[in-house]
Amino acid sequence: MAFHGAGRQTVCGDLFPGSELGHKYFCVSSSCGAPSTGLSATPCLTGPTAPAGTPRHPTALGGSTGGGAAVPQPYSNPASEVPSPAEMEPDRPIGYGAFGVVWSVTDPRDGRKVALKKMPNVFQNLVSCKRVFRELRMLCFFKHDNVLSALDILQPPQIDCFEEIYVITELMQSDLHKVIVSPQPLTTDHIKVFLYQILRGLKYLHSAGILHRDIKPGNLLVNSNCLLKICDFGLARVEEPDPSRHMTQEVVTQYYRAPEVLMGCRHYSSAIDVWSVGCIFAELLGRRILFQAQSPIQQLDLITDLLGTPPLSALAAACEGARAHILRGPHKPPSLSVLYMLSDGATHEAVHLLCRMLVFDPAKRISGSDALSHPYLDEGRLRYHTCMCQCCYSVPSGRVYTRDFEPVAERPFSHSYENSLLSVWQGKELIHRFITEHQQGKRVPLCINPQSAAFKTFISWASRTWSRVF
Ligand SMILES: [Zn+2]
Repeated sequence: MAFHGAGRQTVCGDLFPGSELGHKYFCVSSSCGAPSTGLSATPCLTGPTAPAGTPRHPTALGGSTGGGAAVPQPYSNPASEVPSPAEMEPDRPIGYGAFGVVWSVTDPRDGRKVALKKMPNVFQNLVSCKRVFRELRMLCFFKHDNVLSALDILQPPQIDCFEEIYVITELMQSDLHKVIVSPQPLTTDHIKVFLYQILRGLKYLHSAGILHRDIKPGNLLVNSNCLLKICDFGLARVEEPDPSRHMTQEVVTQYYRAPEVLMGCRHYSSAIDVWSVGCIFAELLGRRILFQAQSPIQQLDLITDLLGTPPLSALAAACEGARAHILRGPHKPPSLSVLYMLSDGATHEAVHLLCRMLVFDPAKRISGSDALSHPYLDEGRLRYHTCMCQCCYSVPSGRVYTRDFEPVAERPFSHSYENSLLSVWQGKELIHRFITEHQQGKRVPLCINPQSAAFKTFISWASRTWSRVF
């Protein structure tokens, strides 16, 4: 049996028994009062009630690495014992996405390891300002166990010096891409519990009217207990109800891009995310990328090789070039039976669900919500809610299950403010106020100590990374 339930959250056993998959980055320290990143807790006197723009001189804020004053007592190391080598583990970068760098840091308030994301180039122009503010608001909006959300936002400096935004999220151990390319065995039980959580998170996002637009294995964070969270909302946006409104085509990493986007359709829906999940489902089964093409046209060719030439009705919204390309080629019959050869886990039930997700016509593709009702996911649901979730709990007489296994968002995500945002300065004021108001009445705010050595390393690493990315 590949799974051993040794504790409440070890439903799948240790997915990463070694330290190969980023495990070393995850260190829960109970006695860390030396914030080596330069992160420090704001002293109480300039704490949560401080007015926006209160100057925060680094030496007044602590940050023991950089030579600043010690962190005030209530937030410093509560214990005097010497930390173990693991607890002394330095903070470090853990990755970067298209729109930011992520760093593993220690929260000086409780010694907990968290992820710190720097959102770059926020105020470069109005477009980036709107994009970052949208992502920030989304991270603060989300309340779902399978969607990464903001635990905190670092206190901004006064508005004249406000250039960067730092968000703190939960730190996860790895991501699905690293798991898939690793030698770690992936059983059917793993696949079912992962797929269940992806769709559970996606149902929540779509119910809030949000399209992720970059669902890929690297954006699905996982822990060794198999808990999964969807992350990176840099490309996410609100669903466009008006089909006559044009939407950007520059979305979704090519291998996971839905055919309607590849064909240049000007309007698309949440179905593009379901397509991406279908590709990931096949990748989990076969442990290789399903459609790995060199160009968007070849990507479309690989899709039609599998699904067959689409009917004319599915090409109605395609751009002229894409439609001509498909109609010019030879008629291809579907070859879906090859999906059974992905692996032993590609059972009739698995392939049936896969074929409902990998439908060329988005109008006929299964929704994330309906996919959750497929019998293939019954075991994943049971496993998740038996010992992984936060919504059910155990009592001596047994397990008390929640009434709603796959909850929707309480309300749609609102983006009406975006239309009234007309300048970068206005955006800066709005974001500054948002962060300040977001923190009021909450925990002691954190801010960066720019004098600390670790912070300088962070910045220089981030700059090097960005120069590689862009
Ligand atoms: Zn539950």
